Amino acid sequence: MLLLASLVVVSGATASPRSDNLVSKAVQALGGESALVSIKTVAVKGTMRQWEPEQSVLPGGDMRLANDSTFEIVVDYGARASRTDVVKNFVYPFPRTYTFSEIVTPDAGYVAGIDSMGRTKQSMESNPPAHAMSGLRLATTQREMRRASPMTFLDMLRNSDRVSDAPDITVGGVSYPAVNYTANGQTFTVAFDSKTNLPARIRTQDYDNVWGDVTFDLVLSDWHQMGGRQVATSQQYQLNGRTIFERKITDVQTNVAVAADRLMIPAEVKASAPKPATGNLHYQWVIRRQVIGTYLDSDNPSFDARATSGLRLNELGPGIQHVVGGSHNSLIVEMKDYLIVFDAPVNDAQSNWTLDAARQKFGAKPVKYLVLTHHHMDHVGGLRAYAAQGTTIVVGKGAAEHFRRVLAAPYRRNPDLPASRDLTGTQFIEVAEKQVLTDGQREVVVYVAENPHAHAMLIGYLPAERLGFVTDLWSPGAPMGPTLNPNQAAVIATVKRFGITPLKFAGGHGSTADYAALVALEGK
Ligand SMILES: [Zn+2]
Repeated sequence: MLLLASLVVVSGATASPRSDNLVSKAVQALGGESALVSIKTVAVKGTMRQWEPEQSVLPGGDMRLANDSTFEIVVDYGARASRTDVVKNFVYPFPRTYTFSEIVTPDAGYVAGIDSMGRTKQSMESNPPAHAMSGLRLATTQREMRRASPMTFLDMLRNSDRVSDAPDITVGGVSYPAVNYTANGQTFTVAFDSKTNLPARIRTQDYDNVWGDVTFDLVLSDWHQMGGRQVATSQQYQLNGRTIFERKITDVQTNVAVAADRLMIPAEVKASAPKPATGNLHYQWVIRRQVIGTYLDSDNPSFDARATSGLRLNELGPGIQHVVGGSHNSLIVEMKDYLIVFDAPVNDAQSNWTLDAARQKFGAKPVKYLVLTHHHMDHVGGLRAYAAQGTTIVVGKGAAEHFRRVLAAPYRRNPDLPASRDLTGTQFIEVAEKQVLTDGQREVVVYVAENPHAHAMLIGYLPAERLGFVTDLWSPGAPMGPTLNPNQAAVIATVKRFGITPLKFAGGHGSTADYAALVALEGK
């Protein structure tokens, strides 16, 4: 309560001489107000390396290196428009290169080229590939541009009503005086270096679907005079204090000529382009799915809002419902007195939908077990909605400790679930090899699959129906290559190892397919 009370006081405060002083000294250190005012356009070149912590092999293990990219940004402050040309070389989930451009204006965003495996209908139907940014991505991109822009400090200097005192931020035993800056409904905490007066760290308080309430910081260092001002040539993004992105600025040019058409969004795209989203947004989802090149650029994080009306149930048999229609699926299995659900993908909004649909289909039967095939953020981000109902969570051996830490994290900023429950009492079942869940009538078996994608991965199986459930190792119904990949081979190896005889698999991605379609690739 004390903490809450102090937050209220801080956010209600207006700029004090202390915070005004911090801002004006920072503007001086950056090169001075007149130097910033004289910047009409900039062209910035650099490189970026990104890791994804929640796509690790081991739960809570080393971050996965996701991509290396080069970029060139041009900003026309008068036109309030920017263009970023990106060449992004991915190493995860598999090697590929995307070359694309983003144009951002106050009211619309545009992507020319292919920037994701999770393409929207609009991108697929456009020739050459292009699409309007969702309002969610536009708001996120605008926020991140504001975080990294020198003009933010000019705006702070000129609008002291947007600036208020904030408690010092202490990192590594060093205390940094800080202010809060609110623009367009987004609040940044800006911390300054007491020795140089330069900004040192620009923080937002975000919601992460795995770790709940997190800090997301841009850490600025290695300052050099470039383009008529001081530029932080080394920029790190830290999630809860852990560096997940590293950006290097290699070139800054000021007041270069920018042809107007380079910043123009085609009229036919702009006409239906969404405005920036507002409110408590899933910023981390938007940012981090782009890190591994799988972001579905839609105003609903679960499905392409321009292509489908939403998630839906697909009945695979009596009491067996596949949640489909989005990028990520669940499987609901009805037992005598309860339900079993496989995977809690994306976020708690999707879980709320699945729980609602299950209630409509199966009445008041509670979800007794949630089986999480593996710990990756896109398949577990909705686990709190289940934990809040007292569901027991079934995970691979060694993963329970990771999920206990996840559920102990505060989640006050969760956009989809009130943080009214203490989730630390959630029960876990760890599966070492095989776990049978039965009510004496129906049997559901969970098997551990050895594989290269994630440690202690689980595969579900209904022996009577000869139906399996698999996530990420194989996406049933999705186009297949000419040969088995190592993940698909792991499915076959698991089936053989446990001597089961599936006819069909339903997927955490894709739809359903005959197991024979996978076996047909064996030996090719
Ligand atoms: Zn995965």
